[in-house]
Amino acid sequence: MLDTNEPQDNNNNVYDIEQQQQNGKVPSTEGRDPAYFSYYAMLQHQQNMLQDTVRTSTFRSAILLNGPMCFANKLVLDVGAGSGILSYFAAQAGARKVYAVEASLMAQKMKKIIDASNPTNPHISPKNTFLKNKIEVIQAKIEEPNLPIPKVDTIISEPIGVLLIHERMLESFLYARNTYLKPGGTLFPSTGSIHLAPFTDAALWSETMGKVRFWEQNSFYGIDLSTLYNDAWDEMFGMPVVGGFDPRTLLAPSSVGGFVVDFYHITIEELQDFTIPFNWLANYTGIIHGLAGWFDLHFAPPSNIQDGTAINMSTSPASERTHWQQVRFLLKEPLAVNSGQKIQGWMRCIVNEMRSYTIHAEILAGEGELSNPRTLHPSFNKMDYNRRRGKWHLHEQTYNYNYYPQPDVTFRPEYNCLYESEHALDPMGVDLNNALEENQFVFEETRP
Ligand code: SAH
Repeated sequence: MLDTNEPQDNNNNVYDIEQQQQNGKVPSTEGRDPAYFSYYAMLQHQQNMLQDTVRTSTFRSAILLNGPMCFANKLVLDVGAGSGILSYFAAQAGARKVYAVEASLMAQKMKKIIDASNPTNPHISPKNTFLKNKIEVIQAKIEEPNLPIPKVDTIISEPIGVLLIHERMLESFLYARNTYLKPGGTLFPSTGSIHLAPFTDAALWSETMGKVRFWEQNSFYGIDLSTLYNDAWDEMFGMPVVGGFDPRTLLAPSSVGGFVVDFYHITIEELQDFTIPFNWLANYTGIIHGLAGWFDLHFAPPSNIQDGTAINMSTSPASERTHWQQVRFLLKEPLAVNSGQKIQGWMRCIVNEMRSYTIHAEILAGEGELSNPRTLHPSFNKMDYNRRRGKWHLHEQTYNYNYYPQPDVTFRPEYNCLYESEHALDPMGVDLNNALEENQFVFEETRP
């Protein structure tokens, strides 16, 4: 799912994490609910997700291939059923009963499809007879108390936003797990993993800086705007850039496995404030303009279910495009690195009231000590020339759709201003790939 066209409130300060921390409250999603659910009440937005064939066919494969173990004759809960597509797949896989919970008015559209399987008028021929008496539509937020839902064997949901976490619907998925899943039951999807990697893109950086520079003017119709220059810098570079990009602009691959979010075990509290560590070796000499992010999804029945089929889906820049695309976080000041150099840092994601996250990151090239991610305002030494920090609002997305993947056998990294080490040609030189493998991170162990 993706609420890209949802109206956004650009007042950063109101939702600032520092304020949230001061009043000690977990920011609620409720203020956004009317806009959020009216977005999903529209067929065109459901259609956008249905037409993402990577997404829809991955869910279908996961459900049908695990049909005999996780769906046949089982009770199933579909959290945020939307058009009902996952409930229909569950019925095709033989579910005994599916509880399709949808908070938006889309619930009524879904009910029309289901009612057409069992028309009251005998002159109308039924459609989708396999749905007859199988699906119960419940128009409610899953968090509402006393919903008529028993404990179920399997929960299906597509609660995923940009970078896995945008929209904060994962919290509803976990609430459903805590409240309605039988012990040993199946959760689809079962894990997500967030991937980060450093990228170079001088054109994107310059285009963004061009917008900032508008505020540098000191005689715009005779008015000096430059007082707002620093604010413009914060705002333009604080907006994550959603869209595809060429994977060959990455200076290092993301850490193997990524940062794993295990939906069977993670708590709602852990999702509210977490830190992703990263540790790479630069494959090239070049300029890092920011951090790129994407996610993978995994569908695996719990270990007590034998003969299940695990299914994976990736939204990486090297994979087939999905409606989630990728996201890039630009640095206000780019960072130069040398081929073979260590790059380390962290990204801390904190929920906000915009059904999204405020994101802080630090990136350090070469030697040095990272600051503690718990301290959001560490003193910044101006001589700290190999360190950058950034702050972004995941809900204030801007779009960049300029990239169309083209296979190009004549491509060389220098076309992207990335330069290979001369030692890469030397058989006695550093073997970067081996060095990288030794450097792999086990994120589960480092998660706070
Ligand atoms: N399952 C559908 C729709 C996914 S989009 C599909 O895969 O195509 C997510 C849907 O969840 C939206 O329709 C949204 O209105 C609904 N939703 C989000 N949070 C919810 C909550 N807390 N309770 C019930 N429905 C919710």
